[in-house]
Amino acid sequence: MSLGPRHSVRGSKATVVGAARSGLAAARLLNTYGSRVFVTESGRISAEDENALRDLGVSYEFGGHTATGLDADFIVTSPGVPPTADLLVKALSASIPIYSEIEVASWFCTAPVIGITGSNGKTTTTSLTGHVLSQSGRKTWVAGNIGLPFAAIVDRVAPEDVVVLEVSSFQLEHTATFRPRVSILLNITPDHLDRYGGSMARYAEAKFRLCAYQGHGDTLIYNLDDPLLEDLAYRTPDLERLGISLTNPSGAAYVRNDTIHLCLDGKDEPLMETEQLALRGKHNLYNSLAAAVAARVMEVRSDVVRESLATFEGVPHRLEPVREAHGVRYINDSKATNVNAVWYALESMRDPVILLAGGRDKGNDYEPLRPLVAQKVKTLVCFGEAGGMISEALGDSAGRTLRARDLEEAVELANEEAAEGDIVLLSPACASFDQFDNYEQRGNAFKRLVSNL
Ligand code: ADP
Repeated sequence: MSLGPRHSVRGSKATVVGAARSGLAAARLLNTYGSRVFVTESGRISAEDENALRDLGVSYEFGGHTATGLDADFIVTSPGVPPTADLLVKALSASIPIYSEIEVASWFCTAPVIGITGSNGKTTTTSLTGHVLSQSGRKTWVAGNIGLPFAAIVDRVAPEDVVVLEVSSFQLEHTATFRPRVSILLNITPDHLDRYGGSMARYAEAKFRLCAYQGHGDTLIYNLDDPLLEDLAYRTPDLERLGISLTNPSGAAYVRNDTIHLCLDGKDEPLMETEQLALRGKHNLYNSLAAAVAARVMEVRSDVVRESLATFEGVPHRLEPVREAHGVRYINDSKATNVNAVWYALESMRDPVILLAGGRDKGNDYEPLRPLVAQKVKTLVCFGEAGGMISEALGDSAGRTLRARDLEEAVELANEEAAEGDIVLLSPACASFDQFDNYEQRGNAFKRLVSNL
């Protein structure tokens, strides 16, 4: 079947695999535009979702995928569904096209999209870019992996609006036409390698799919300081490539003498001092440079960019200041679920750190943290399932290492250790699933424990 404008799905048969937020939004959207939709979910569906599907007149099944799902012109898959799922494998061998929810939603989008991906910093950069764009007075939609599915908003987006979209590599696996006006590739570091057969090259290729369908008139913003990205950027088709760098003056945004410079259309313009940025740390400097360039490409004035980068309030669970008590600062970085994020968190600390790390290990190599732990960590408190592994890998580089059963005990121990001027940092390097449903729940538990101290 042909793809693209909204009228073309009318009369088509679509199977949506996975009935979580994005799957349900895709089902609703396709149903609105005249597709006959079938939803199949391997787990359970809530009574509320079931009622909603029934009200729409969408047929569905749950508790497994039967062959009914294969009677379709195309399949829409959700990020949580593994590519090895039986239904997807069968669809592939029957040559039924498989699309992600992002791809499907993009068929109906009339506004320019700024698509953002990377191993770390997606949510921060998406929120920050959304903030800058909305401060410019333009109606801005912030959606995607950040929480609100693209398919849930796209039919309310007007052509003069702008969509800032967080995109995960899973969502990029099944695109066929998705074409952001501006794509941002922040960084590529080892994460989710289990899904890519342990291959960095395959993981990087998946991320690069963000710009696979971009072309003349579009822009790619990428991290010039990451050799892997620079190499791949030059394999992209005919589009504008704008690098960001902390040092390299050939970037469209770079830093010289603690001043951010923008260099667009051949004009070098000092934008602001790095000190003025609302978000701290080297990693956030990259995020701010990327947001600034994207905003300028979308013709936001420099004074608006400067003002918005200085006033942004940050995103919860990403180096989020929680409280200060008896001269000790407590910081919640529960979203740091991989080693690279912890590296940047430690790098940005200027006072002695009591680091709380642990949770469920994801096959991590903790070694790269050793130099920063040696330099910054006064006490390492390892907790949860991965506590033993972390203390083995890093224990001898920290000033002192303690083991805690769970997060609660870790906070107690940290509090006993902390002296005036210290920072207690939850930056776990691990998933939260040994003790919590997700990183938000872990971060909220940390905040509660800390506020009760
Ligand atoms: P994502 O959405 O890609 O998971 P987040 O913005 O939620 O990224 O941040 C995840 C973690 O990574 C946080 O601990 C944050 O402090 C850290 N981080 C943010 N930006 C970057 C970056 N550019 N490079 C490395 N780490 C980063």
